[in-house]
Amino acid sequence: MQFTRTSLAIFGSTGSIGKSTLDVVSRNAEAFNVEVLAANTDVETLWQQVQTYRPAYAAMADSASAAELEQRVKAASLGVRVLAGPESLVELAALDTVDAVMAAIVGAAGLPSALAAAQAGKRLLLANKESLVVAGELLMNTVRDSGATLLPIDSEHNAVFQCWPHAQPKGRDTVRRILLTASGGPFREWSSEQMQKVTPAQAVAHPNWSMGAKISVDSATMMNKGLEVIEACWLFDCPESAVEVVVHPQSTVHSMVEYCDGSVLAELGHADMRTPIAHALAWPDRIDAGVSAFDITKIAQLEFYPPDEIRFPCLRLAREAAQAGGGAAAALNAANEIAVELFLQERVGFNDIASLVDAVLTAKSWSTEAHGSLEELLSIDSEARAFAREQAVLLT
Ligand code: NAD
Ligand code: MG
Repeated sequence: MQFTRTSLAIFGSTGSIGKSTLDVVSRNAEAFNVEVLAANTDVETLWQQVQTYRPAYAAMADSASAAELEQRVKAASLGVRVLAGPESLVELAALDTVDAVMAAIVGAAGLPSALAAAQAGKRLLLANKESLVVAGELLMNTVRDSGATLLPIDSEHNAVFQCWPHAQPKGRDTVRRILLTASGGPFREWSSEQMQKVTPAQAVAHPNWSMGAKISVDSATMMNKGLEVIEACWLFDCPESAVEVVVHPQSTVHSMVEYCDGSVLAELGHADMRTPIAHALAWPDRIDAGVSAFDITKIAQLEFYPPDEIRFPCLRLAREAAQAGGGAAAALNAANEIAVELFLQERVGFNDIASLVDAVLTAKSWSTEAHGSLEELLSIDSEARAFAREQAVLLT
């Protein structure tokens, strides 16, 4: 029998999600074709990937890196077209020869290409949660208007998607609550005083998941869960009050959906991102993800308890931004990106991340800023970034 292969563009291919995606693709080579690979500055990794997967296009947001990659591609006469600059990613997301786009760039930098994929009506596999935090309304409207298919890669949202009443006549009206699980991060039991002395190396060492530096710090501050509350509101059309966070240190239950009849559906499995990636790549079918069998008898205990918003104020700040609406979530995200960057450079302390985000959110009424278009959202993003940097100087 003849199968048509799904043609993929993988944005952020050199990162943690990008590499896991390529791993799943390699296991299912008969079903997928890699048309585009894109990254920022990691020439070495992208070059390795280009040689293995022979995409039609390879793009790097950083022009100097793209020039270096192009030299190598030419010297090896590989016939891969190399493009440079952030605009090239936007262009490639809408290519006719691309069926599905894996949006796995980190931060608001991933928004323009994710939005372009949505506009072009692609199947959008969304790992880049910041896109929905910054531009939830715009992105969801674009998906609806263009007929694109949006599939969540974030493990919690992918779990919710799998438990969601897609085919039921009354659909989402039968859902009482979404329960998002959170590992609690490496400092789950630390006091605020202990946390102020945390180093970047300690913060990026997540107990259960292996991830990029930014999301690892977000997990440690629990801003990651705050961003995920906002992400869930957009994906599943829920108010912030219908999304509850439950700390679950084992990360075995990836999230749950509670129904009006009292049923609670959960998705369980190993903490391995290849599972949600494979789910979204193949949906509504299933494919091998390379994940080992799940031995439930080996699970000694599953714990669940409420989060502590005093020690982890980022969760509260994200909820406040969600309630405020408008451009508040975009400002929250921008402030957090700067704060995490400064923390990783050891220029501010761990608890200063929340203080900086708080200062930016209270600096002005972001919720009343014009935020309908991509340009307006990016303008809020840069204003909030500049403000976060100014505030950080006052701290040091
Ligand atoms: P990472 O840091 O490992 O990789 C980031 C990728 O983005 C790299 O390929 C990098 O080259 C690219 N990139 C960075 N800045 C860019 C720019 N300006 N232009 C173009 N490309 C750029 O990050 P990650 O852990 O793979 O996370 C990627 C996204 O997926 C994030 O939004 C994160 O929140 C989300 N996510 C990750 C995980 C995980 O397990 N890693 C789980 C859920 C969601
Ligand atoms: Mg997650």
